[in-house]
Amino acid sequence: MSFDDVELNLKNQYTLCCPACGSAWAHHGAVTVYTRREEDGAATKTCVLPDGTVQQNIGKHHNPSGRRDGLAIQFYCEQGCGPIELTIEQHKGICTLGWRELTDPPAGTLMLPKARMRTA
Ligand SMILES: [Zn+2]
Repeated sequence: MSFDDVELNLKNQYTLCCPACGSAWAHHGAVTVYTRREEDGAATKTCVLPDGTVQQNIGKHHNPSGRRDGLAIQFYCEQGCGPIELTIEQHKGICTLGWRELTDPPAGTLMLPKARMRTA
């Protein structure tokens, strides 16, 4: 079997809603990628900040995967929820998708100005 035998069809465009309140008014911010040269090895954290700059190994490491690679995308909800992260975790050969609270965002990562928040 080759990868050419596998086809991914996305028939719809899905709206990503806030996991806390269900609002569709969510915005993404910093994107963090955790990579390892080998399973269980030390992870390198690469973060693309909202202003486009790239930093490595800033703040604490919160790799969604305990042993492999991971990805985390910050989100802020216009209803005031967050910060939260959408995560992709490699675990035993599969990838899982999930949400988690982000309790200590590194300095310089997304902080949506209150003035831009939707007021109901
Ligand atoms: Zn929300």
